[in-house]
Amino acid sequence: MSSPESERLSPGLYIVATPIGNLSDLTPRAADTLSRADVVAVEDSRVTAKLLGHIGVKRPMLPYHDHNADRVRPALIERMAREAVALVSDAGTPLISDPGFKLVRDARAAGHAITTLPGPCAAIAALTLSGLPTDRFLFLGFLPSKAKARADAIAEVAAIRATLILYESGPRLGVALAALAEGLGARDAAVAREISKAFEECVTGTLSELAARYAEAGPKGEIVVMVGPPGEAPPVSEDDVDALLTDALERLPAAKAAAEVAKATGLQKRDLYARALAMKA
Ligand code: SAM
Repeated sequence: MSSPESERLSPGLYIVATPIGNLSDLTPRAADTLSRADVVAVEDSRVTAKLLGHIGVKRPMLPYHDHNADRVRPALIERMAREAVALVSDAGTPLISDPGFKLVRDARAAGHAITTLPGPCAAIAALTLSGLPTDRFLFLGFLPSKAKARADAIAEVAAIRATLILYESGPRLGVALAALAEGLGARDAAVAREISKAFEECVTGTLSELAARYAEAGPKGEIVVMVGPPGEAPPVSEDDVDALLTDALERLPAAKAAAEVAKATGLQKRDLYARALAMKA
C-alpha cells in the first residue's frame, strides 16, 4: 500500500519504469514514488522534467548515463544509505537496453533496500502485439551495426527455439531485416512501431517479406523487431529412412546402423533395427 504523500520514502534505490509513449501509462505508484524521491537519477533531465511536469512535481535530478555512470555511481550508492534514490530512463524500464544494472549490483553489495516499480517495457509490449509464440522468448537488445558482427550475432542464436526480440531504429531496419532473413531463413516475423503512440502499428510477415517492404526506406519512430522460432524439422520420409539405413548398413552391423539412423532422425531405434533386418533379408 502506498504511504501518504507527505511521508518520506524510506532510504534505498527505487527502480521506476516510465511510459514508452502515452504518459497515462505511468502507474500511480511510480508517480507517487517520483514525487517523494529525494533525488531522481535520470538519463536526460529534459526528458524526465517533462514527465515530472506531467504529474505536477519538481524533484532534484542527477544525470546517470553511459558517459558518467562510473564516476557518479559511488556518490549515488552512498546517498542511498539515508535518501530515497529513484532511477528512471528516458522511456520504459530502466536497465533494459538502458543504464542501471551496475547501480543495482553495487546497491545490493552495499546492503541498501532495492524496490522495483514495474511498468512499460517496449520488448514485452511488442511481443504481446506480434501474435508470435510467447512461451519462450529471447531479448537480444540492439544488433551490432557492423555487418560481420551482426551476422555472427544472428548465427549465434539461429538454433534457439524461442521468439527473438530486438530493438532497432528506422534507418537500420531494412539492413537488419535482410541480415535476419539471410541468417535465419523463412520465419514468421513482426515489426512493431511507435507502441502506445498515435501511429502505433504492428506489421507481420515472413522475414524476407518484411525485408523487402523496408528495403528502400526505414519507417520513422521507435521499432521492435520480433522473429518467430525455427519450425519443426520436416518429417523424414520412408524413402529417406531407407536411404540412410542402406548407407549405414554398408559400414555397420544392423544394430549400430539402426542406432546411427535413430540419432540422425529422432525415430525409434527398435523400429529401425527391424527395418534394417528386413532390408538385409
Ligand atoms: N528501457 C526501454 C524499454 O524498457 O523498452 C528501452 C530503451 S532502448 C534505449 C530504446 C529502444 O526501445 C528504441 O530504440 C526502440 O527499439 C524501443 N522502443 C522504445 N519505445 C518504443 C515504442 N514506443 N515503440 C516501439 N519501440 C520502442
